[in-house]
Amino acid sequence: MSAESSGPQVQPSGGPRELLVDGVRVFHQTGPSKTRAVLFFGVGLQDESFETIGLTHLVEHLAMAQLPKTHLDANASVTVNHTAFYAHGRPDDVGAFLRRVCEALADLPLDHLAREKDVVAAEAGVGADLTTAAAWTARYGFAGAGLVATPGYGPLVHTEADVVSHLAAHFTAGRAALGVLGPLPEGLALPLPPGGLTTGPAPGTVSETAGAPAAVQAPRRFPRPRLGDGPEYVEGAPSPGVALLLDGFDPDDQAVRVAHTLLCERLEDLEREHQALVFSVVSETVDGPDGDVFTLAVDGPEEQAGDVARLVWEQLGDLAANGPTQAELDDVLQAYADQVDPTDDDVRESEPFRLAAETAIAVAAGRPGATPLARIAAGVAATTREDVRERLATAARRALLVLPGEASLPESAQRVAPIAERPWCPQAPELPPGRRLRPKLHRRLLGSCADRTLVLGVDSIAQQDEDGTVHAVRWDEVVGVVEVEGGPGVAVIGPDTCHVWVHPHSYGKAAHAEVLERLAPHAERMRRAVAGRR
Ligand SMILES: [Zn+2]
Ligand SMILES: [Zn+2]
Repeated sequence: MSAESSGPQVQPSGGPRELLVDGVRVFHQTGPSKTRAVLFFGVGLQDESFETIGLTHLVEHLAMAQLPKTHLDANASVTVNHTAFYAHGRPDDVGAFLRRVCEALADLPLDHLAREKDVVAAEAGVGADLTTAAAWTARYGFAGAGLVATPGYGPLVHTEADVVSHLAAHFTAGRAALGVLGPLPEGLALPLPPGGLTTGPAPGTVSETAGAPAAVQAPRRFPRPRLGDGPEYVEGAPSPGVALLLDGFDPDDQAVRVAHTLLCERLEDLEREHQALVFSVVSETVDGPDGDVFTLAVDGPEEQAGDVARLVWEQLGDLAANGPTQAELDDVLQAYADQVDPTDDDVRESEPFRLAAETAIAVAAGRPGATPLARIAAGVAATTREDVRERLATAARRALLVLPGEASLPESAQRVAPIAERPWCPQAPELPPGRRLRPKLHRRLLGSCADRTLVLGVDSIAQQDEDGTVHAVRWDEVVGVVEVEGGPGVAVIGPDTCHVWVHPHSYGKAAHAEVLERLAPHAERMRRAVAGRR
């Protein structure tokens, strides 16, 4: 295997060729007589906010709704970090599909907005593993990938202006990449608006049917991670399983791929060897603020979750201290060699789509593009036991271990390496200054409402729970206000998932009204969400 990397235009040994069509990077691989094409955009749930959850999915539906009925095998999907439009069929039909999708995105008709909002609302959100989602939320709160764990306000609240703004910021030629296997459609055209990482509407891209200017702030693609001084664990997470989140990885470091796979394999081997253990391991990598984020989710019976979490921590600790055995490493390297063998038919046929997907995701994150297969192969093949040990040791210093429900991490886990507990959402050291409100005495005595204290401060709203813990949310950092149990009580939600409950029965109608007034734009979205559901 050669360590040489290929130039940007040509892939070695019969790999896909890259061309530019209407400003869109296209990766084309010759193949069977029919054409398979996937048009990727580097936009997904990660580009939304609590307020705008579902906008990308809505754009995808509105574009697909514009296509005439056809027998073409075509579909579309939205994930955490990308959106894809697929087609498979006669080259001309695939070419027509791609052109129509681009035309729809360039000037999206919004006459079906109400209908498509209902359709999107009826579908599940971005399909992600729930355990993985809980780990992302523990790291990022309700932002970026952490949004997978919440429905937000739902898609019914979105306005024409929201859709137009999201479209202009993200569905451009600069954010797109196309993979094609089989004949390249003749006269292929991808008439998308130009532009790359714009955060506001580009000139000429705003639809005629748009109403008021964009009301939605451009979301941060990479939210600030909640990091401790060292490795941390969280108990009581709203998660079905145990998760280990490791981050800060260089996306171009191939030894990292080996390290991740090795950790998964190690856990699966242990599960097979031990009759008493029953769990499944899934892993996912997304891009984060300071490198790739690797999440390993271990789902099994809840009564085993504490032991499983200790096992995960032990295995990470062992690999970080001693590295893998040579046999373990050889197994993983052999499996990888097969996955990146350019002479293998499966690899050859999936390569244009890997390149297009990774290009769209990389460009959205401000990186130049996908890593050539030859460089991955060379990097993986050169990985040593010490490389794996070093990568995992570095990552373990900021590892986050997430335990579900009632599970607790056995004390013996501390013998592997100290790991500190932290609460699911941050707790403030004390109540901030401000007006203090408590439920009326007779309600507290009757137990008809929780004995909490609400503080309406200058800078923040805060709550002290019955057990004394304090949760505070700055007014200017509130991500949403949602109705609780059919209203009129509401929860004010902070970026790190803190909830402050405000119910007129507990604190009086005046305080309730004051909070909604103070958070008027959020309260307005909440009312639209509620009205839409009824
Ligand atoms: Zn859908
Ligand atoms: Zn909190």
